[in-house]
Amino acid sequence: MKSPDEQHLSPHDHRALGRDLDLFASDPLVGSGLPLWLPAGSVIRDELERLARDIARADGCVGVHTPVLGKRELFEKSGHWAKFAADMFPPMALGDEPPGDQLVLRPANCPHHAMVYAARQHSYRELPLRFNELAPMFRAERSGVVSGLTRVRQITLDDTHVFCRPDQVASEAERALRSALHAQRVLGMPVDYVRLSLPDDGPGYLGDPDLWADAIEALRRAATAVDLAAYGLELVEAEGEAAFYGPKLDLQVVDGNGHEESIATVQVDFVQPQRFDLRYDGADGGRHPVVMIHRGTVGSMERVTAALLERYDGRVPLWLNPIQLSVLPVSESVDDLARGFVDALVARGLRPRLDPAGSLGARIRAARVRRDYAVAVLGDAEAVAGSVQISDAFTGWSGALPREQVVDILAAAYADRSAPAWPAAHSEGTQLS
Ligand SMILES: [Zn+2]
Repeated sequence: MKSPDEQHLSPHDHRALGRDLDLFASDPLVGSGLPLWLPAGSVIRDELERLARDIARADGCVGVHTPVLGKRELFEKSGHWAKFAADMFPPMALGDEPPGDQLVLRPANCPHHAMVYAARQHSYRELPLRFNELAPMFRAERSGVVSGLTRVRQITLDDTHVFCRPDQVASEAERALRSALHAQRVLGMPVDYVRLSLPDDGPGYLGDPDLWADAIEALRRAATAVDLAAYGLELVEAEGEAAFYGPKLDLQVVDGNGHEESIATVQVDFVQPQRFDLRYDGADGGRHPVVMIHRGTVGSMERVTAALLERYDGRVPLWLNPIQLSVLPVSESVDDLARGFVDALVARGLRPRLDPAGSLGARIRAARVRRDYAVAVLGDAEAVAGSVQISDAFTGWSGALPREQVVDILAAAYADRSAPAWPAAHSEGTQLS
C-alpha cells in the first residue's frame, strides 16, 4: 500500500526499493512507523542478525533475552525518564498501582542489561562480561515524521553491554571498535571517519568529571591501538557530541547532502552503574563500581537494511540476497535437470529460485528487476555438457561452468560472505547481458 509520501519517491530510495522488491510494507491498520517485513525482506534481516550474532560470539559476548517492557521506575532510576519521556510511549496503567509501577515500552535496552548484571554477584576475576541481544526498543515518533525503515517506532538494535573494571576500559573499547569496523567492512558500507565524541561546557552531563576524563583518555588509547590509518580513517575529536552519561567513539558516515550519521558506537558509561549500584568484588575484598560500555556493531536492523538497499540499489551481495541464483530452464526437456540443480543448491544451504515459465528474455528481465544476485540458464547444450550459463549481475561476470562447480563456488562465497570466486578466464558461451 502506497502512503502519500511514497508516490513521488526516487526509484533508488529504500522506500521505493522496499515496495518494488516486496521487502517490506506498511498498513494503516497496523500503524505508521511499524513496517511489516515481507518474506524477501526477512531474508535480508535474518542474515544481518546472523552476522551480528557471529561477530558478537567471536568477540566473547554471551546472548541474553530481556523483555521489551519494564516498570516506569526502572527508567526513572536509569535517567531515561527525565531525559526522553517525550519520545517514549505513554506508560500503561494496569489498575490502581502507583505511577512507578506502570509499565512502559523501553526507549533503550541498557537498563535491562544492567539488571542482568545485577542478577548475580560478580568477582573481579569474572570480568569483563559482555551481554549481547538483538533487542527491540521503541520511539514514540509522530506519524508525520515516520518514514520507511529510517524513522520507525520500533527499532531492533544489535546491542551489547560490557561490564568491566576501570583498568579494562581501553582494551574493551579497542575490541568493540575493531568489531564495529569489521562489521561495516563485511557489509561493504563505507565509514567516513571515527569521532571521539566529547562533552562541551553545557549542562546535562551526568557523573563525576574525573571519571569523564579517565574515560576520554581510555577511548583515545583504544583508537590509537586500532590504527585507524590502516582502515584509511582518521580520528576526529568533537565537543558537544558525547552522550549524557559518557564519552563515545562513533563510526560516522556523511551522505551527499552533508547529512551525518553515527552507524556504530562505543560508549563508556560511569553513570548507569552508579544509578543501579552495580559493583564487583575486588581483589581487596571491597565492592567496587563496575564500568559499563555500550557497544553497537552491525547497528539497527532497520537502518542498516535501508542503507544497504540504497548503497546497492537493491541488488545486495550474495550472502544477503533473498534470491542468490535464478535458475531458468530454456525448455521443458531440461526442467528435471534444472530442478536437480536447484535441489543441489538448496542442499548446500543456498537460496535458488526455479523460474520455468514464460519467454527466456522475460524471465531474465524479471530476475534483473527483482535484483536476483545471479542468473543460470540451462538449455539442451548445457544439459549435454553438464554445465550452466551463469550471469552474475553483481560482479558483471558471465560464462559457462560445470553445474557442480557453480554449487561449490556459490556455497564457498556464501560461507565467507564474499563475492563468488568465478574463474578468471571467461568460458565461451552466450552472453546474457
Ligand atoms: Zn546501552
